[in-house]
Amino acid sequence: MSLIKEVIAKVKEKNPAQPEFHQAVEEVLTTLEPTVDKHPEFVKAKIYERIVEPDRQIIFRVPWEDDEGNVHVNRGMRIEFNNALGPYKGGLRFHPTVYEGIIKFLGFEQIFKNSLTTLPMGGAKGGSDFDPKGKSDAEVMRFCYSFMRELFRHVGPNTDVPAGDIGVGGREIGYLLGMYKKLTNEHSGGVLTGKAYEWGGSLIRPEATGYGNVYFAAEMLATRGETFSGKTVLVSGSGNVAQYTIQKINQLGGKVITISDSSGTVVDMDGVKGEKWDFLMELKNVKRGRVKEYAEKFGVDYYDGKSVWDVVKEQGIKADVALPSATQNEINGEHAQALVNNGVICVSEGANMPSTLDAINIYLENNVLYGPAKAANAGGVAVSGLEMSQNSLRLQWTREEVDNKLHEIMKSIHKNSLAAAEAYGKPGNYLYGANIAGFLKVAKAMLAYGIV
Ligand code: NDP
Repeated sequence: MSLIKEVIAKVKEKNPAQPEFHQAVEEVLTTLEPTVDKHPEFVKAKIYERIVEPDRQIIFRVPWEDDEGNVHVNRGMRIEFNNALGPYKGGLRFHPTVYEGIIKFLGFEQIFKNSLTTLPMGGAKGGSDFDPKGKSDAEVMRFCYSFMRELFRHVGPNTDVPAGDIGVGGREIGYLLGMYKKLTNEHSGGVLTGKAYEWGGSLIRPEATGYGNVYFAAEMLATRGETFSGKTVLVSGSGNVAQYTIQKINQLGGKVITISDSSGTVVDMDGVKGEKWDFLMELKNVKRGRVKEYAEKFGVDYYDGKSVWDVVKEQGIKADVALPSATQNEINGEHAQALVNNGVICVSEGANMPSTLDAINIYLENNVLYGPAKAANAGGVAVSGLEMSQNSLRLQWTREEVDNKLHEIMKSIHKNSLAAAEAYGKPGNYLYGANIAGFLKVAKAMLAYGIV
C-alpha cells in the first residue's frame, strides 16, 4: 500500500463516523501523491501523518435561555488545525448539522486554502449545532454571548482569529466581539473578522467570496479564450456567497438563472438582476424570508424541495457555467453528468466541497474547467486576512484598494495552481495544482520548525 493510502486508511480508522472529514482528507491526500517521490524529506519528517491531525480540538457546552425562559444546551467547538503559516484562521458555522466531522473537514481544507491566499494564516474552523433560523435577535445574542464566554480564552489576534460562515454573519460577529471586549477589557478588533466597516471591518469583505469566485472562474475561462459576457450561469444558494456572485456576474455581462435555499429552487430565465437582485438582498438579509417569495413576486418557476442540480437534471436546463454556492455535497455524479450533457464548460466552487468525488471525476473526464473550493472561494478568507492587516495598521483601505488586492490574489492563486499542476505532472488540473501549491508552503514551514 502506498504511503498516502496508508495515511488515509489510518485517518478513517482513528476518526470513525466522520465521513465528511474522510472525504476531504481523501480528496487532498490523493492529489498529493506526486509530492511523495519528490520530497523524501517530507516522508522522513512524517509531514503527511502530522498534517491530518489537528493541533487541538476544543469542545464545549453552550447553555442559553430562550425568550420564554426555557434553557437550551448546544455544543460549541473550535478545531485549531495548523498554525505553521500564521495565526489559526477560519469561520464559525451555526447550523443544526454541525458536528466534529464537518468542522474537521472544513478546518483541514482551510489550511491549504489559507496557504494559497499568499497571506500569513493558519487553518481552523469552529461552530455549533445551534440553529439561528427562527430565533429572535435577543436569543441569538444570548447564544453568542454564551459561546464566547468559553471561546474567548482560546482566541486572540495573534493566536486564532475566527470569522463568519453559514449562519454567522455581521449580527453574530457583533455579539461575539461585544462579549470578547467585555471579558478581556481590550478593544481587539483583530480577534474576529467579518466586522462591519464602522467598527473595524474591511470594505469588500461581504462581497469577497462571491467576487473572488467569479474572478477565479474568469481566469479559468480566459485560458480557453472565453469570458462571462453572454454566458448563462447556474448559482445555488441565496446567502452571502450567492448574492455577490450574482452581482459580479451581472457586472460582467453574464446571466444567472437559478437561486435556491434549503426549501427549494427558483428558475428565472430572464436573470436575477436589477430590482430582482435588490429584492433578493432585502428578502434574505432583512426579512430573512425564503426564495419561494421571489418566485411568487416575479411570477417565475419554483421547485419545492429540489436543489438547483435536481432541477437542472430533471428539466434539462442548458447553461454554460455552474457556481455552486450553498453547501457541501450538493452535486453528485448524476448531477455532474447532467451539467456536462446540458453544456456546462466550467464549474467553480463558491461553497466548500459542494461536489462529491464522483462529480469531480466526471468534470475531469469531460474536460470541464473545474475550480476546486479551496482555490475558487479563497477570496473570502483572503479579504479576512486583509481585514487583519488593516486592523494591525489601524487604518482602513478604500473599496477600490481592497477589490484590486482581492483581484490580484485570485489571479495569483490561479497562476500558482496552474504552475504547481504543471511542475508535478498534472498540467491544467486545478485540483492537483491548488492542493499541491497550498500543501508545499505549509509542509516546508512544518519542516523548518522541526518535530513540534
Ligand atoms: P449563508 O448562510 O449566507 O447562505 C447559505 C445558503 O445555502 C442559504 O441559501 C442556505 O439556505 C443554503 N443552504 C445551507 N445549507 C443547505 C442545505 N443543507 N441544503 C440546501 N441549501 C442549503 O452562507 P454563505 O453564503 O456564507 O456560505 C455558503 C457556502 O460557502 C458554505 O459552504 C460556506 O462554507 C462557503 N463559504 C463561505 C464563505 C464566506 O465568506 N461566507 C467563504 C468561503 C466559503 P437556507 O437559508 O434555507 O439555510
